Amino acid sequence: MTAAYDVAVVGGGLVGLTAAWHLARDGASVVLLEAGDLGAEASGANAGSLHLQIQYPEFVKYGEAWARAYAPTLRFLAASIDLWQEMSEAVGEDLNVRVKGGVVVARTDAQMRAIAAKARIEASVGIVTEVLGRDELRAVAPYLSDAAIGGGFCAGEGKADPLRATPALARAAVAAGVDIRTRTTVTGIARDAQGFALATPGGAVRAARVVDAAGARAADCAAMVGVPIDLGGFPLQVTVTEPVAPLIPHLVYSAAGKLSLKQAPNGGCVIGGGWAARVHGDGGLATDPANFAANMGIAADVVPVLGQARALRSWTAWVNGTPDWRPIIGEAPGVPGFFLAIFPWVGFSAAPMTGRVVADLVLGRAPTVPLDGISVLYD
Ligand SMILES: Cc1cc2nc3c(=O)[nH]c(=O)nc-3n(C[C@H](O)[C@H](O)[C@H](O)COP(=O)(O)OP(=O)(O)OC[C@H]3O[C@@H](n4cnc5c(N)ncnc54)[C@H](O)[C@@H]3O)c2cc1C
Repeated sequence: MTAAYDVAVVGGGLVGLTAAWHLARDGASVVLLEAGDLGAEASGANAGSLHLQIQYPEFVKYGEAWARAYAPTLRFLAASIDLWQEMSEAVGEDLNVRVKGGVVVARTDAQMRAIAAKARIEASVGIVTEVLGRDELRAVAPYLSDAAIGGGFCAGEGKADPLRATPALARAAVAAGVDIRTRTTVTGIARDAQGFALATPGGAVRAARVVDAAGARAADCAAMVGVPIDLGGFPLQVTVTEPVAPLIPHLVYSAAGKLSLKQAPNGGCVIGGGWAARVHGDGGLATDPANFAANMGIAADVVPVLGQARALRSWTAWVNGTPDWRPIIGEAPGVPGFFLAIFPWVGFSAAPMTGRVVADLVLGRAPTVPLDGISVLYD
């Protein structure tokens, strides 16, 4: 039997939709199979940070050797943030993309030394993080607490709107000809000489090639073709405050505890930074109250005006995580035609380029960003 589609994409998050969009624009016939609704998992529930610099908590936790191994990945993130800045025009909708820089705020000399060491590793791959003293930091970010003694400022970081991005990419993918099927869980994948047959409750879907963009469940999807990958789902939570006057143009982190903080165009401040949500016995998620309080406390320590703002809403979702933070992008070893599209932890930042390079690889082209030393499949 001949393949019904050139490519089947499993997963309707931002990575799957972006890959499908590129593939269809480049002439492939594409079906996208999504278990639930488009963007209903991490891609629609993330905090909207466009991360570039090495995350400070992981730098301290895993050390310089890890940071040097991870550093080439920053080139991929930088290229992806470049694509973010073209994305609104490409899809014809305003995705609220702003790249005004990100700052890690320090309170101690030891934290300043760690920020400087991290900046040296970032510089080794061409990513500039300026190490700022107290007065320089105050000049850049006057909204910070007086307790800040300095920080690291990376001009290439920013933010975008997750609630707009995934639906916009879905519309662009449909316009490019992608056949999108929601509420269609892939339950098994069989391979034969003609390609792949993907089992779904609505019947089998045939495709010559498959893209695994199943996010936090990508390992389950890869296991369907016998490919083991070291990836899991981790429960996270994020909170947004009521709108406050325009104040914070940057992405803000703290060296004193886990924090990512940014102000949305409506004035609400989105506060997260990798705080765990609670998992029920049935696998559902709920806000962890202790982590909520700790997260809000750090935010108000760093930006005092937030101590006066009410939290409006918290939400939770599973993030796709790998132990060493490195992406798993490329054709699966031993399974020609099956492609992994996994960018962990900061996959919102990386989604535009992940989708593009996966489309490149599926279509037999050199990837737009070389993956050597970036994807674990290219070591
Ligand atoms: C709370 C939170 C905050 C975050 N904040 C940020 C941030 O600020 N910046 C940043 O860069 N990153 C952030 N991330 C990470 C980022 O959101 C993810 O890395 C990224 O969205 C992953 O995109 P994806 O398309 O690969 O996966 P997802 O968005 O998870 O999409 C995968 C899709 O695959 C579907 N699926 C799974 N299995 C199957 C199957 N068998 N059949 C069919 N469909 C299937 C799922 O239903 C899902 O819709 C955050 C994540 C969370 C959870």
